[in-house]
Amino acid sequence: MTCDEARARLSALLDEALSPDERGALDAHLATCVDCRRELGLLKNTVALLRAVEPARAPAGFVDRVRGAAPRRDRDPAARRAYRRRH
Ligand SMILES: [Zn+2]
Repeated sequence: MTCDEARARLSALLDEALSPDERGALDAHLATCVDCRRELGLLKNTVALLRAVEPARAPAGFVDRVRGAAPRRDRDPAARRAYRRRH
């Protein structure tokens, strides 16, 4: 697979829209190509930003997963105290 072919498939990869064969070929390319891995990272960031500003279009459960992964110092008194000690 060439870089052009790989990059044409990156957004499909993030959408999980690739067939297993396509996905395997793309993974193999990404494993050997740092440029395309970087491109994939940028694309992931872009997708995350788009989902953050357009929550209505985020997949079901996405917002809850993001909230669950965020620091809990707003709600958890112990975490809030630990945060104050560090700052
Ligand atoms: Zn490449």
